[in-house]
Amino acid sequence: MGAGLAGAQTVAALRAHGFTGRVTILGAEGVPPYDRPPLSKELLTRPGPAWLTEEIGVDVTVLADEALLDDPAVDLEPGTGSVTVTTRSGRRVTADVAVLALGSEPVRPPGWEAALTLHTADDAAHLRERLTPGTRLVSIGAGWIGAEIAGVASRAGCEVTVLEAAQTPLERQLGAEVGGHLARWYADAGAHLLTGAQVTEVGARSVVLADGRTIEGDLVLAAVGARPATAWLKGTLPLDPRGSIRVNSAGRVAPPTVAAPSGTSGHLPLKALRRLYAVGDCATRDNAVFGPVPGGHWSAALHDPEPTVRAILGIDEMPAEPQPVRELLGLAPVPQHAPYVFSQQLGHDIALFGTPSPFHEVVYRGDPSGGATGHEGWTALYLETVAGAHRTNAEGHRLATVRAILVVDAPREVGQVRKLMNRDVALHVDVEIATDPGRRLRDAVV
Ligand SMILES: Cc1cc2nc3c(=O)[nH]c(=O)nc-3n(C[C@H](O)[C@H](O)[C@H](O)COP(=O)(O)OP(=O)(O)OC[C@H]3O[C@@H](n4cnc5c(N)ncnc54)[C@H](O)[C@@H]3O)c2cc1C
Repeated sequence: MGAGLAGAQTVAALRAHGFTGRVTILGAEGVPPYDRPPLSKELLTRPGPAWLTEEIGVDVTVLADEALLDDPAVDLEPGTGSVTVTTRSGRRVTADVAVLALGSEPVRPPGWEAALTLHTADDAAHLRERLTPGTRLVSIGAGWIGAEIAGVASRAGCEVTVLEAAQTPLERQLGAEVGGHLARWYADAGAHLLTGAQVTEVGARSVVLADGRTIEGDLVLAAVGARPATAWLKGTLPLDPRGSIRVNSAGRVAPPTVAAPSGTSGHLPLKALRRLYAVGDCATRDNAVFGPVPGGHWSAALHDPEPTVRAILGIDEMPAEPQPVRELLGLAPVPQHAPYVFSQQLGHDIALFGTPSPFHEVVYRGDPSGGATGHEGWTALYLETVAGAHRTNAEGHRLATVRAILVVDAPREVGQVRKLMNRDVALHVDVEIATDPGRRLRDAVV
């Protein structure tokens, strides 16, 4: 279910592993799978979708026996002997295994119906037509997508105002301290950023703030995040408060740890749950190093279907067991990868590995102001530290565990950071060496 990146990769992996059984893929957009990141980054330079057939060579219409791209699933009946999916047109598809690759939907709070969003190829086409030079764009949210559109629209000669409820851009994702370093990027790119802006009313051409100000524009865009597209599964499957489907590290739907509040979902027999897998944006997946990782990122949708298909086909024995247990059992490692997000925003390149939290201490390699040009590379390391319990090595250097690394405008650093963060153990570093931009980060590993 779901003809996006994760759904397409699932079908491709099944065939790549020689699966000859019947595959049905259900979609909701009426078009073959395409890549979403270019919708914002290349909004005005790429006139049509980046089709996955061309981008990664996966054509679901060839690989699946049936590709019903405009007939979404509306009901799921997990049983102990099979699982049945009912589609919008009333088709009933019975299968041995069902993979949920439903993606997400943009958040649009009640009363914000007049605002545009950017999530689909149709949204992009609509926005592209209207973002002409001189257009006044009022964008709500300085998150990943809000920042990308602000940059693209400013560059195209639009007059851009970004309204952000938090005190800094990307505060929820990167923390207030690091977010603070990104704030000036808006002015540098010619966009106007208003932080601490609580939106109370949204119209098609104006936004009212809690302090009584009205911000007028020609277009109002809501870019305040996305939620798993799972509303229709409430009462059928255990969902977390965000609507995410909790899966183990192989992508298999996990039994609820406490009685699920949504009716029958807490009572599904284990045998029925074993037929259900979820990948991509709609899932929160266990990671041996980073714990439960919510979907929402391209790299998870790209990579997670492979181990999931291996689990479905029984290629990896006990794929969800942690690596130390697999080692004890003499089983080969199942490849792990750290959560990864990339973004090109307001003239800057960002790569984020791992899971930052407001409780982490942030230290830097390089100057987070971007140096004299504002574009010199820097890296932020998010350290897990236990108050009053600093560990040191023989040279008296502090040792710490790195939970996330943000790389800004330093493409050459990205490769080594990816390697270090993708290991299947937590990254421990000598903080003194790690914060010396003259030394290689890998020399800091302990
Ligand atoms: C504008 C934009 C820019 C982005 N940029 C980045 C970026 O720079 N870096 C990054 O890491 N991530 C980025 N992302 C996120 C990234 O694109 C997603 O994480 C990725 O597309 C997830 O893939 P998916 O297959 O899980 O979901 P999707 O791509 O959303 O695909 C799911 C598909 O399932 C369909 N569907 C939904 N419900 C049903 C149903 N009931 N039955 C059948 N089909 C259904 C949906 O219509 C959709 O076509 C961006 C997203 C957007 C919107």
